[in-house]
Amino acid sequence: MTHSLSIHLRQCSRTFAGGVVALYPLDLDIVAGETLVLLGPSGCGKTTTLRIISGLESPDAGGEVWFGDRDVTALPIEQRNVGMVFQNYALFPNMNVAENVAYGLRVQGIPKSDIRARVDEMLTMVDLLPLATRPVQALSGGQKQRVSLARALAARPKVLLFDEPLAALDVKLRDRLREDIGHLLRKLGMTAVYVTHDQQEAMALGDRIAVLERGRIAQIATPQAIYQHPATRFVADFVGAINCISAAQPGSPARYCRPEDIRLSEVTTGQRSGRIVGMQFLGASQRLLIDIGMDKPVQVECSARERWQPGQQVGMLINDDVLMNF
Ligand code: ATP
Repeated sequence: MTHSLSIHLRQCSRTFAGGVVALYPLDLDIVAGETLVLLGPSGCGKTTTLRIISGLESPDAGGEVWFGDRDVTALPIEQRNVGMVFQNYALFPNMNVAENVAYGLRVQGIPKSDIRARVDEMLTMVDLLPLATRPVQALSGGQKQRVSLARALAARPKVLLFDEPLAALDVKLRDRLREDIGHLLRKLGMTAVYVTHDQQEAMALGDRIAVLERGRIAQIATPQAIYQHPATRFVADFVGAINCISAAQPGSPARYCRPEDIRLSEVTTGQRSGRIVGMQFLGASQRLLIDIGMDKPVQVECSARERWQPGQQVGMLINDDVLMNF
Protein backbone atom coordinates (compact mmCIF):
# COMPACT_ATOMS: atom_id res chain seq x y z
CA MET A 1 0.00 0.00 0.00
CA THR A 2 1.45 3.31 -1.11
CA HIS A 3 0.98 6.55 0.74
CA SER A 4 -1.46 8.31 -1.57
CA LEU A 5 -1.38 11.88 -2.70
CA SER A 6 -3.99 14.49 -3.56
CA ILE A 7 -3.77 16.36 -6.88
CA HIS A 8 -4.80 19.96 -7.46
CA LEU A 9 -5.05 21.84 -10.73
CA ARG A 10 -5.31 25.60 -10.47
CA GLN A 11 -6.42 27.63 -13.48
CA CYS A 12 -4.95 25.11 -15.90
CA SER A 13 -5.81 26.06 -19.46
CA ARG A 14 -4.26 24.94 -22.75
CA THR A 15 -4.50 26.59 -26.13
CA PHE A 16 -2.64 24.93 -29.00
CA ALA A 17 -1.01 26.56 -32.02
CA GLY A 18 -3.69 27.82 -34.39
CA GLY A 19 -5.85 28.93 -31.48
CA VAL A 20 -7.44 25.55 -30.65
CA VAL A 21 -8.61 25.80 -27.05
CA ALA A 22 -8.30 22.28 -25.61
CA LEU A 23 -8.95 23.41 -22.04
CA TYR A 24 -10.45 26.54 -20.48
CA PRO A 25 -9.01 27.56 -17.08
CA LEU A 26 -9.70 24.51 -14.94
CA ASP A 27 -9.68 24.05 -11.17
CA LEU A 28 -9.75 20.41 -10.14
CA ASP A 29 -9.18 18.74 -6.76
CA ILE A 30 -8.54 15.01 -6.75
CA VAL A 31 -8.79 13.44 -3.31
CA ALA A 32 -5.91 11.25 -2.08
CA GLY A 33 -6.71 7.60 -2.80
CA GLU A 34 -9.68 8.18 -5.08
CA THR A 35 -10.14 7.10 -8.68
CA LEU A 36 -11.31 10.09 -10.68
CA VAL A 37 -12.58 9.35 -14.16
CA LEU A 38 -12.40 12.01 -16.87
CA LEU A 39 -15.31 11.24 -19.19
CA GLY A 40 -16.44 12.97 -22.33
CA PRO A 41 -16.70 12.83 -26.13
CA SER A 42 -13.73 12.93 -28.45
CA GLY A 43 -11.87 16.24 -28.35
CA CYS A 44 -13.33 17.51 -25.04
CA GLY A 45 -9.92 17.83 -23.39
CA LYS A 46 -9.57 14.60 -21.36
CA THR A 47 -6.14 13.62 -22.63
CA THR A 48 -4.84 17.17 -22.38
CA THR A 49 -5.90 17.28 -18.71
CA LEU A 50 -4.21 13.94 -18.04
CA ARG A 51 -1.03 15.04 -19.82
CA ILE A 52 -0.93 18.24 -17.75
CA ILE A 53 -1.18 16.13 -14.57
CA SER A 54 1.57 13.80 -15.81
CA GLY A 55 3.97 16.52 -16.91
CA LEU A 56 3.91 15.46 -20.57
CA GLU A 57 2.16 18.76 -21.30
CA SER A 58 2.45 22.16 -19.62
CA PRO A 59 -0.55 24.32 -18.83
CA ASP A 60 -0.60 27.82 -20.36
CA ALA A 61 1.14 30.51 -18.29
CA GLY A 62 -0.43 30.97 -14.86
CA GLY A 63 -1.72 27.40 -14.49
CA GLU A 64 -0.44 25.37 -11.54
CA VAL A 65 -0.28 21.65 -10.76
CA TRP A 66 0.11 20.53 -7.14
CA PHE A 67 0.74 17.04 -5.79
CA GLY A 68 -0.28 17.32 -2.15
CA ASP A 69 1.40 20.51 -0.89
CA ARG A 70 4.15 20.39 -3.52
CA ASP A 71 4.03 22.60 -6.61
CA VAL A 72 5.07 20.29 -9.46
CA THR A 73 4.18 22.64 -12.33
CA ALA A 74 7.78 22.99 -13.50
CA LEU A 75 8.75 19.32 -13.00
CA PRO A 76 9.09 17.00 -16.02
CA ILE A 77 7.29 13.64 -15.97
CA GLU A 78 10.39 11.74 -14.71
CA GLN A 79 10.37 13.77 -11.52
CA ARG A 80 6.66 13.51 -10.76
CA ASN A 81 6.60 9.85 -9.75
CA VAL A 82 3.56 8.95 -11.84
CA GLY A 83 2.76 5.60 -13.47
CA MET A 84 1.07 5.69 -16.86
CA VAL A 85 -0.97 3.11 -18.75
CA PHE A 86 -1.83 3.91 -22.38
CA GLN A 87 -4.26 2.49 -24.92
CA ASN A 88 -1.43 1.34 -27.20
CA TYR A 89 0.52 -0.39 -24.33
CA ALA A 90 3.80 1.39 -25.21
CA LEU A 91 5.82 -1.75 -24.40
CA PHE A 92 9.33 -2.47 -25.68
CA PRO A 93 8.71 -5.06 -28.43
CA ASN A 94 12.20 -6.56 -28.30
CA MET A 95 12.00 -7.39 -24.58
CA ASN A 96 10.16 -10.13 -22.76
CA VAL A 97 7.49 -9.58 -20.11
CA ALA A 98 9.82 -9.44 -17.10
CA GLU A 99 12.34 -7.18 -18.89
CA ASN A 100 9.58 -4.73 -19.75
CA VAL A 101 8.49 -4.55 -16.12
CA ALA A 102 12.10 -4.27 -14.92
CA TYR A 103 13.16 -1.57 -17.38
CA GLY A 104 12.25 1.49 -15.30
CA LEU A 105 13.80 -0.05 -12.19
CA ARG A 106 17.07 -0.70 -13.99
CA VAL A 107 17.16 2.90 -15.18
CA GLN A 108 16.66 4.01 -11.56
CA GLY A 109 19.73 1.95 -10.59
CA ILE A 110 17.91 -0.35 -8.18
CA PRO A 111 20.02 -3.45 -7.18
CA LYS A 112 19.46 -6.53 -9.33
CA SER A 113 18.13 -8.80 -6.61
CA ASP A 114 15.61 -6.16 -5.53
CA ILE A 115 14.49 -5.76 -9.14
CA ARG A 116 13.88 -9.47 -9.49
CA ALA A 117 11.77 -9.55 -6.30
CA ARG A 118 9.79 -6.49 -7.35
CA VAL A 119 9.14 -7.82 -10.87
CA ASP A 120 7.89 -11.12 -9.44
CA GLU A 121 5.62 -9.27 -7.03
CA MET A 122 4.16 -7.12 -9.84
CA LEU A 123 3.67 -10.03 -12.23
CA THR A 124 1.94 -11.99 -9.47
CA MET A 125 -0.35 -9.04 -8.87
CA VAL A 126 -1.49 -8.95 -12.50
CA ASP A 127 -1.55 -12.75 -12.83
CA LEU A 128 1.27 -13.00 -15.36
CA LEU A 129 4.08 -14.69 -13.46
CA PRO A 130 3.93 -17.86 -15.61
CA LEU A 131 4.52 -15.71 -18.72
CA ALA A 132 7.53 -13.81 -17.33
CA THR A 133 9.94 -14.92 -20.07
CA ARG A 134 7.52 -14.70 -22.98
CA PRO A 135 8.27 -12.03 -25.65
CA VAL A 136 5.62 -9.33 -25.41
CA GLN A 137 4.82 -9.70 -29.10
CA ALA A 138 3.48 -13.17 -28.30
CA LEU A 139 0.84 -11.84 -25.89
CA SER A 140 -2.85 -11.05 -26.35
CA GLY A 141 -4.03 -7.44 -26.05
CA GLY A 142 -5.33 -8.05 -22.53
CA GLN A 143 -2.05 -9.60 -21.44
CA LYS A 144 -0.07 -6.72 -22.95
CA GLN A 145 -2.20 -4.29 -20.98
CA ARG A 146 -1.48 -6.25 -17.78
CA VAL A 147 2.23 -5.94 -18.51
CA SER A 148 1.90 -2.15 -18.88
CA LEU A 149 -0.01 -2.05 -15.61
CA ALA A 150 2.69 -4.08 -13.87
CA ARG A 151 5.37 -1.84 -15.37
CA ALA A 152 3.53 1.30 -14.25
CA LEU A 153 3.20 -0.07 -10.71
CA ALA A 154 6.74 -1.41 -10.43
CA ALA A 155 8.31 1.99 -9.78
CA ARG A 156 5.89 2.43 -6.84
CA PRO A 157 4.38 5.64 -8.23
CA LYS A 158 2.39 8.02 -6.05
CA VAL A 159 -0.22 8.46 -8.77
CA LEU A 160 -1.53 6.20 -11.53
CA LEU A 161 -2.73 7.68 -14.81
CA PHE A 162 -4.75 5.75 -17.39
CA ASP A 163 -5.47 6.95 -20.92
CA GLU A 164 -8.21 4.77 -22.47
CA PRO A 165 -6.41 1.56 -21.44
CA LEU A 166 -9.21 -0.75 -22.56
CA ALA A 167 -10.19 0.93 -25.82
CA ALA A 168 -8.28 -1.49 -28.06
CA LEU A 169 -9.64 -4.67 -26.46
CA ASP A 170 -12.66 -6.74 -27.43
CA VAL A 171 -15.77 -6.57 -25.24
CA LYS A 172 -15.26 -9.71 -23.12
CA LEU A 173 -11.62 -8.93 -22.39
CA ARG A 174 -12.48 -5.33 -21.67
CA ASP A 175 -15.05 -6.34 -19.04
CA ARG A 176 -12.64 -8.71 -17.37
CA LEU A 177 -9.71 -6.28 -17.29
CA ARG A 178 -12.02 -3.52 -16.11
CA GLU A 179 -12.92 -5.67 -13.12
CA ASP A 180 -9.28 -6.49 -12.46
CA ILE A 181 -8.20 -2.85 -12.64
CA GLY A 182 -11.06 -1.85 -10.32
CA HIS A 183 -10.05 -4.54 -7.85
CA LEU A 184 -6.40 -3.51 -7.96
CA LEU A 185 -7.19 0.19 -7.52
CA ARG A 186 -9.33 -0.54 -4.46
CA LYS A 187 -6.67 -2.82 -3.03
CA LEU A 188 -3.81 -0.36 -3.56
CA GLY A 189 -5.78 2.73 -2.50
CA MET A 190 -3.69 4.83 -4.88
CA THR A 191 -4.77 8.12 -6.36
CA ALA A 192 -5.74 7.38 -9.95
CA VAL A 193 -6.97 9.44 -12.88
CA TYR A 194 -8.63 7.46 -15.63
CA VAL A 195 -9.56 8.82 -19.06
CA THR A 196 -12.33 7.17 -21.06
CA HIS A 197 -15.19 8.01 -23.40
CA ASP A 198 -17.08 4.89 -22.27
CA GLN A 199 -19.76 5.74 -19.71
CA GLN A 200 -20.06 2.19 -18.36
CA GLU A 201 -16.33 2.01 -17.73
CA ALA A 202 -16.55 5.39 -16.01
CA MET A 203 -19.42 4.27 -13.75
CA ALA A 204 -17.76 0.96 -12.89
CA LEU A 205 -14.35 2.41 -11.99
CA GLY A 206 -14.85 5.97 -10.78
CA ASP A 207 -15.25 7.02 -7.17
CA ARG A 208 -16.13 10.26 -8.89
CA ILE A 209 -16.58 11.19 -12.54
CA ALA A 210 -15.76 14.54 -14.12
CA VAL A 211 -17.77 14.94 -17.32
CA LEU A 212 -15.98 17.25 -19.75
CA GLU A 213 -17.69 19.21 -22.49
CA ARG A 214 -15.62 21.25 -24.95
CA GLY A 215 -12.75 22.00 -22.59
CA ARG A 216 -14.81 22.58 -19.44
CA ILE A 217 -16.09 20.40 -16.60
CA ALA A 218 -19.85 20.10 -17.02
CA GLN A 219 -20.27 18.15 -13.75
CA ILE A 220 -18.12 16.36 -11.21
CA ALA A 221 -19.84 13.94 -8.83
CA THR A 222 -20.27 10.27 -7.91
CA PRO A 223 -21.41 7.91 -10.69
CA GLN A 224 -24.85 7.62 -9.06
CA ALA A 225 -25.29 11.39 -8.88
CA ILE A 226 -24.10 11.86 -12.46
CA TYR A 227 -26.55 9.28 -13.77
CA GLN A 228 -29.54 10.04 -11.57
CA HIS A 229 -29.11 13.78 -11.09
CA PRO A 230 -27.25 15.08 -14.14
CA ALA A 231 -26.59 18.81 -13.96
CA THR A 232 -27.24 19.50 -17.62
CA ARG A 233 -28.93 17.93 -20.60
CA PHE A 234 -25.53 17.25 -22.13
CA VAL A 235 -24.47 15.18 -19.10
CA ALA A 236 -27.81 13.35 -18.98
CA ASP A 237 -27.53 12.46 -22.64
CA PHE A 238 -23.86 11.49 -22.56
CA VAL A 239 -24.07 9.01 -19.66
CA GLY A 240 -27.23 7.22 -20.80
CA ALA A 241 -30.33 7.43 -22.97
CA ILE A 242 -32.94 10.08 -22.21
CA ASN A 243 -36.53 10.61 -23.35
CA CYS A 244 -38.22 13.96 -23.60
CA ILE A 245 -41.71 13.33 -22.22
CA SER A 246 -42.91 16.91 -22.12
CA ALA A 247 -41.60 19.89 -24.05
CA ALA A 248 -40.52 23.15 -22.44
CA GLN A 249 -43.30 25.69 -21.90
CA PRO A 250 -42.86 29.37 -21.07
CA GLY A 251 -41.71 29.35 -17.45
CA SER A 252 -41.30 25.59 -17.13
CA PRO A 253 -38.47 23.39 -18.37
CA ALA A 254 -38.71 20.29 -20.54
CA ARG A 255 -38.98 17.00 -18.64
CA TYR A 256 -36.92 13.92 -19.33
CA CYS A 257 -36.69 10.37 -18.02
CA ARG A 258 -34.53 7.30 -18.65
CA PRO A 259 -35.83 4.28 -20.64
CA GLU A 260 -35.73 1.99 -17.60
CA ASP A 261 -37.84 4.38 -15.51
CA ILE A 262 -41.02 3.83 -17.51
CA ARG A 263 -43.42 0.99 -16.66
CA LEU A 264 -45.88 -0.08 -19.32
CA SER A 265 -49.44 -1.10 -18.51
CA GLU A 266 -52.74 -1.73 -20.25
CA VAL A 267 -54.32 1.63 -21.04
CA THR A 268 -56.52 3.03 -18.32
CA THR A 269 -57.92 6.54 -18.21
CA GLY A 270 -56.04 9.47 -16.68
CA GLN A 271 -52.48 8.46 -17.45
CA ARG A 272 -49.88 8.96 -20.14
CA SER A 273 -50.36 6.65 -23.05
CA GLY A 274 -48.97 5.98 -26.50
CA ARG A 275 -48.67 3.48 -29.33
CA ILE A 276 -45.88 0.96 -29.79
CA VAL A 277 -44.09 1.84 -33.04
CA GLY A 278 -40.91 -0.22 -32.65
CA MET A 279 -39.61 -3.22 -30.74
CA GLN A 280 -36.06 -4.50 -30.31
CA PHE A 281 -35.28 -7.78 -28.54
CA LEU A 282 -31.98 -7.47 -26.61
CA GLY A 283 -31.86 -10.83 -24.82
CA ALA A 284 -32.21 -9.93 -21.14
CA SER A 285 -34.34 -6.92 -21.95
CA GLN A 286 -36.30 -5.37 -24.78
CA ARG A 287 -36.41 -1.81 -26.01
CA LEU A 288 -39.75 -0.47 -27.18
CA LEU A 289 -40.43 2.77 -29.03
CA ILE A 290 -43.66 4.47 -28.01
CA ASP A 291 -45.19 7.31 -29.98
CA ILE A 292 -46.67 9.80 -27.50
CA GLY A 293 -47.02 12.63 -30.01
CA MET A 294 -43.60 14.21 -29.30
CA ASP A 295 -40.99 14.82 -32.03
CA LYS A 296 -39.31 11.51 -31.23
CA PRO A 297 -40.83 8.30 -29.91
CA VAL A 298 -40.08 7.49 -26.27
CA GLN A 299 -37.70 4.58 -25.59
CA VAL A 300 -38.75 2.13 -22.90
CA GLU A 301 -36.49 -0.61 -21.60
CA CYS A 302 -38.26 -3.49 -19.88
CA SER A 303 -37.95 -7.22 -19.26
CA ALA A 304 -37.90 -9.28 -22.45
CA ARG A 305 -40.54 -11.50 -20.83
CA GLU A 306 -43.21 -8.79 -20.94
CA ARG A 307 -45.49 -9.42 -23.93
CA TRP A 308 -46.40 -6.39 -26.03
CA GLN A 309 -47.49 -6.15 -29.65
CA PRO A 310 -46.45 -3.67 -32.34
CA GLY A 311 -49.20 -1.11 -32.83
CA GLN A 312 -50.64 -1.72 -29.38
CA GLN A 313 -51.87 1.26 -27.33
CA VAL A 314 -50.22 1.20 -23.87
CA GLY A 315 -50.28 3.20 -20.64
CA MET A 316 -47.02 4.57 -19.19
CA LEU A 317 -46.27 4.90 -15.52
CA ILE A 318 -43.42 7.24 -14.61
CA ASN A 319 -42.55 8.08 -11.05
CA ASP A 320 -42.36 11.89 -10.79
CA ASP A 321 -39.30 11.63 -8.52
CA VAL A 322 -37.12 10.33 -11.33
CA LEU A 323 -37.94 13.05 -13.85
CA MET A 324 -35.09 15.32 -14.93
CA ASN A 325 -35.83 18.94 -15.81
CA PHE A 326 -33.66 20.97 -18.17
P1 ATP B 1 -10.00 11.90 -27.60
O1 ATP B 1 -10.97 11.10 -26.79
O2 ATP B 1 -10.38 11.97 -29.04
O3 ATP B 1 -8.57 11.56 -27.35
P2 ATP B 1 -9.80 14.13 -25.75
O4 ATP B 1 -11.02 14.46 -25.00
O5 ATP B 1 -8.76 13.37 -25.05
O6 ATP B 1 -10.18 13.42 -27.12
P3 ATP B 1 -7.74 16.07 -26.27
O7 ATP B 1 -6.82 15.07 -26.87
O8 ATP B 1 -7.42 16.60 -24.94
O9 ATP B 1 -9.22 15.53 -26.27
O10 ATP B 1 -7.85 17.28 -27.31
C1 ATP B 1 -8.62 18.44 -27.06
C2 ATP B 1 -8.55 19.38 -28.26
O11 ATP B 1 -7.23 19.85 -28.42
C3 ATP B 1 -8.93 18.71 -29.56
O12 ATP B 1 -9.63 19.64 -30.34
C4 ATP B 1 -7.58 18.40 -30.19
O13 ATP B 1 -7.68 18.37 -31.59
C5 ATP B 1 -6.72 19.52 -29.70
N1 ATP B 1 -5.31 19.14 -29.56
C6 ATP B 1 -4.81 18.19 -28.72
N2 ATP B 1 -3.48 18.08 -28.82
C7 ATP B 1 -3.08 19.01 -29.74
C8 ATP B 1 -1.83 19.42 -30.30
N3 ATP B 1 -0.67 18.86 -29.90
N4 ATP B 1 -1.84 20.39 -31.23
C9 ATP B 1 -2.99 20.98 -31.62
N5 ATP B 1 -4.20 20.65 -31.15
C10 ATP B 1 -4.28 19.68 -30.21
